[in-house]
Amino acid sequence: MRIARFSIDGNVAFGAVEGSSAPGDESTLVLDIIKGIPFADFELSGTKVPLSKVRLLPPVLPNKVVAVGRNYAEHAAELGHAVVDDQGRAEPPLVFFKPSTSVVGPGDPIAYPSFSEELHHEAELAVVIGRMCREVPRERVKDVILGYTCANDVTARDVQRREQQWARAKGFDSSCPLGPWIETDLDPSDLTIQCTVNGEQRQLGRTGDMIRSIEDLVVHISEAMTLLPGDVILTGTPAGVGPLNVGDEVAVTIEGIGTLTNKVIKRG
Ligand code: MG
Repeated sequence: MRIARFSIDGNVAFGAVEGSSAPGDESTLVLDIIKGIPFADFELSGTKVPLSKVRLLPPVLPNKVVAVGRNYAEHAAELGHAVVDDQGRAEPPLVFFKPSTSVVGPGDPIAYPSFSEELHHEAELAVVIGRMCREVPRERVKDVILGYTCANDVTARDVQRREQQWARAKGFDSSCPLGPWIETDLDPSDLTIQCTVNGEQRQLGRTGDMIRSIEDLVVHISEAMTLLPGDVILTGTPAGVGPLNVGDEVAVTIEGIGTLTNKVIKRG
C-alpha cells in the first residue's frame, strides 16, 4: 500500500494511493482517506479524492531523522573517505541527525541557504519506523518498519568541509525533502535509486550496494536510542552527488516507490 499525507480544505489526512500512472503523470491517481493514522490499525474510509485535487505533504512528520553517511563505497570514495580501516575492517556506520524542521514534502521548495555556495543533492532510500522500539534484534527489524519513501539529504558541502559537526551543513531548513508517499509493501534490498537535475541523470545506484543493510542500521541506531513511530532513517547515497543551483528541479526516483521532486529557490 502507498500511504500519502495531504491537506484538503485546510485539514490534514492520510490516504491510500490507488491506481497506477506513468512516471510524472499522477492525474489518474486517487486517495482513499484513512480513518485514523497509519501507525496503528486503521481502515480505509471509502471516501476518495483525486490526488490532483490535494496538496501532498511530507508523508510523515518525524520526531527525528537519523541519517547514515558513507554507506555506498563509490560515494565514500568520491568524497575521499575510506570505509575500511587500515586493518581492512569495516568502519562503524557514521550516524548523524537532521532536525524535524529540515523536512519538507514533495513539490516544496529547497531554499538555498545564505551561508553556503555549494549545495549538493544526495538521493537516498528512507526507512519510516512504524512503532516505538529500542534495542531491536535483527530478526525483528521488519516488524518495526512501516515502509519506505524517497529522500534527498541536501547538503551544504562547503559548510560540511569546514565545520566539524554537520548540524548546519545538513540540518538547515528544507534540507530533507521526503516523499511522495510511503510504500509499505516493498522488498528494499536491491532497488534502483536515481537522481536527476533538470531531467539530466546525476546519480544512479542500487540499494543492494549499501555497505550496511537496513537491518544493520536499525540494530545499530536502536541500540543507542528509542525510535518513535514516524521517525525516519536515511540510508546513505550512491555515487554521483553534485551541485544544485537556484532554479534547478531535482528529482529522486526509487524503483517501486515513485519520484520526489523539488525546486531550488533563493532563500527569501
Ligand atoms: Mg547522505
